[in-house]
Amino acid sequence: MYLKSLEVQGFKSFANRILFQFHNGITAVVGPNGSGKSNVSDAIRWVLGEQSAKSLRGGSMQDVIFAGTQTRKPMSYAYVSITFDNADHLLPVEYDEVTVARRLYRSGESEYLINGTEVRMRDVQELFFDTGIGKEGYSLIGQGQVEKILNGRPDERRELFDEAAGIVKYKHRKASTLKKLESEQANLVRVNDILSELE
Ligand code: ATP
Repeated sequence: MYLKSLEVQGFKSFANRILFQFHNGITAVVGPNGSGKSNVSDAIRWVLGEQSAKSLRGGSMQDVIFAGTQTRKPMSYAYVSITFDNADHLLPVEYDEVTVARRLYRSGESEYLINGTEVRMRDVQELFFDTGIGKEGYSLIGQGQVEKILNGRPDERRELFDEAAGIVKYKHRKASTLKKLESEQANLVRVNDILSELE
């Protein structure tokens, strides 16, 4: 699996639609200070489900929408899509190519799409569990992150190893099953209460 392309429109400094096409191997993004290099990696993190405006260097999530310049009006939405070559089916879907897209309007309305079908944010996160690519994955290493990992709490460091070992999806499934079990147990208590009232 490899990153094939990234499409950005109305995201941060990218007002116009821009298509980045990548090939197998190394790609370097170079440019003067403030030209938008970090905005490229922010776009990747955002489309993969980043929920923290702070880690995208903004105050609120709407700050990712192109805010306008002296000569250009602000945009009403931000759109990013990312396409992976999935010929090796590392992503657990039947498609040989997987495109994930996210759109956010100034009103706060937002949507996620996988290969053109609207999905929940959770579906996007689950797609990338244990691949190292998700927003918590180790494929994206931001400034200061190496230091954060080395100086981090043991449980934070453990999360990284869990992802590499491929057990994150099982941990999430276990947590959501336990939650369901808890609510079923509460239902059972209520049913028993009603039954004892009727007896
Ligand atoms: P450096 O080399 O200094 O780290 P960089 O090339 O990584 O810089 P970025 O930090 O990616 O640059 O981009 C910063 C630019 O993005 C600034 O000019 C900022 O005004 C612009 N920018 C950020 N958010 C928005 C937005 N919502 N609308 C318009 N421009 C934005």
